[in-house]
Amino acid sequence: MPTELLFRDDAYLKTASAHVTAARDGGFEVDRTIFYPLGGGQPGDIGWLMRANGERIPIIDTRKGDVPGSVRHILAPGTTLPEPGEAVSLELDWERRYALMRLHTALHVMSSVVVAPVTGGNIAPDKARLDFDIDMTLLDAAKIEHGTNELIARAVATETVWITDEELDARPELVKTMSVQPPRGAGRVRLLKIPGIDLQPCGGTHVKNIAEIGGIRVVRIRNEGKRNKRVEIVLA
Ligand SMILES: [Zn+2]
Repeated sequence: MPTELLFRDDAYLKTASAHVTAARDGGFEVDRTIFYPLGGGQPGDIGWLMRANGERIPIIDTRKGDVPGSVRHILAPGTTLPEPGEAVSLELDWERRYALMRLHTALHVMSSVVVAPVTGGNIAPDKARLDFDIDMTLLDAAKIEHGTNELIARAVATETVWITDEELDARPELVKTMSVQPPRGAGRVRLLKIPGIDLQPCGGTHVKNIAEIGGIRVVRIRNEGKRNKRVEIVLA
């Protein structure tokens, strides 16, 4: 059964109550969740499951479930699973998630500084990267860092915008990331808008205002292949 994705409307929820809808093979599903499942270059959330009997069980990963729209919360091997129908609470490892949100949003900002098709990307709690289809000589770490930080200093609020599949098909320039398909479903696509800076399909979690990123440092630029020139950043 599909899971209501509470982080889509509010990425700042740290806890939520929910009911277990399925539990098997070391994981469980709930009717609603604050846990982001691995996808679009962003790792699955970790945190804790709180049962009514007071047990606090670590959730070690989150993945998309077998049924479209469902989310699977993975527990450590050997952990007792909750029962279907059980009322539980979920708690995020917020420090980790917030770092992911800041780095994820930083990549959106950086993608408007490096003007080239994005061929890959990944976000970890301590660093993030984008791969570009661009000539190595056009990538200057100091310029990218300075340009990105200048935009972050504008302190603009981010917005979530929904458009129809047809509207997206009519505006292919919105899809910067060639390796990741936009999060389609039910005929509409979610976009992240950073006014004056970036607009692209994205189903991930972002900060409300880019000022929350603080600033970034470019730590490495490396040739990872013909169409993959990798720019790696950390939070400053
Ligand atoms: Zn995003």
